[in-house]
Amino acid sequence: MSALEPMSLMDRLPRLRGSVEADATLAPFTWFRVGGPAEVLVRPADTDDLCALLRALGPEVPVTVIGVGSNLLIRDRGIAGVVIRLGSSFAEIRTVNDTTIQAGSAALDTHVAQAARHAGIAGLEFLRGVPGTIGGAIAMNAGAYSADVSECLIEIEFVTRDGRRQILTRQELEMTYRHGGLPEGVILTWARFRGHADDPALIGARMDDIQARRESTQPIRSKTGGSTFRNPPGFKAWELIDAAGCRGLVMGDAQVSELHCNFLINRGAASAADLEGLGEEVRRRVLAHSGIQLEWEIKRLGQGGQP
Ligand SMILES: Cc1cc2nc3c(=O)[nH]c(=O)nc-3n(C[C@H](O)[C@H](O)[C@H](O)COP(=O)(O)OP(=O)(O)OC[C@H]3O[C@@H](n4cnc5c(N)ncnc54)[C@H](O)[C@@H]3O)c2cc1C
Repeated sequence: MSALEPMSLMDRLPRLRGSVEADATLAPFTWFRVGGPAEVLVRPADTDDLCALLRALGPEVPVTVIGVGSNLLIRDRGIAGVVIRLGSSFAEIRTVNDTTIQAGSAALDTHVAQAARHAGIAGLEFLRGVPGTIGGAIAMNAGAYSADVSECLIEIEFVTRDGRRQILTRQELEMTYRHGGLPEGVILTWARFRGHADDPALIGARMDDIQARRESTQPIRSKTGGSTFRNPPGFKAWELIDAAGCRGLVMGDAQVSELHCNFLINRGAASAADLEGLGEEVRRRVLAHSGIQLEWEIKRLGQGGQP
């Protein structure tokens, strides 16, 4: 699965302060717990390290960034090239003023929601229970309960594929439903969000309400990838899947959730091929039943086939 000769890819890496691992297991970094290895996994020490890495890698080297893998299906033969995972030095959260909060791209959404509540900043409650990072949330324009990232984002910093830092405002991004509109190949490093002042107790009560609704409607303790398919305009994906008779459908150890049928579940020993195959079978049945072609929301990365 090498993008290049294995040694030559390692040879192309500059001296980094972060960690570098060849043939690195990725499955434990994803919610589905499936998928093959990264040809090379790099965890940069900080933004300067990330810039140095990207400056040294020519455009022919595939580079993939992952968050905490809550919207990812990594295929069984893994990901060629360099996979980047940002660690705790990218996870700082700080209050800028009484309505603005800044978060590193590896900060967990739920921690940002909690920090905002603590600071009395309302408007980020929906991030409570989105199990990803801020980087993933912006890339996916994550949203829940009638709110999404595009409504509270002010600006982002990222590193370009050729290793330059850049800042863009929300207005410079073409954010749409579950699409962050980021420039191609960039890696987010931090973002600023604006809310409005409110009583922390009221913010907390809204967050508790959101979490209670999630617990009762989503398989949040399962090995899953969140919403599998985008809602087609005017429709709910789960209703189309249910109407096509796919609730509970099984392929290998992959299953369409009984609780929320736009979620796929790894019951234990599913492969990425089982999960992707099941998703394709759902698309086929929904098309046959309703004439609507579902589009994947989950990002499928890497190469399939036997490991
Ligand atoms: C139980 C469950 C419930 C969920 N509920 C919701 C929900 O209510 N609303 C919702 O919108 N989503 C939901 N999701 C999906 C998922 O949590 C979000 O899409 C989340 O924003 C993904 O973040 P992540 O860190 O896991 O990103 P990953 O899944 O690791 O990656 C997703 C995408 O983001 C990109 N990315 C990640 N980090 C960066 C970065 N630093 N720079 C550039 N690109 C980056 C990746 O390349 C990839 O394309 C749910 C998932 C699960 C498992």
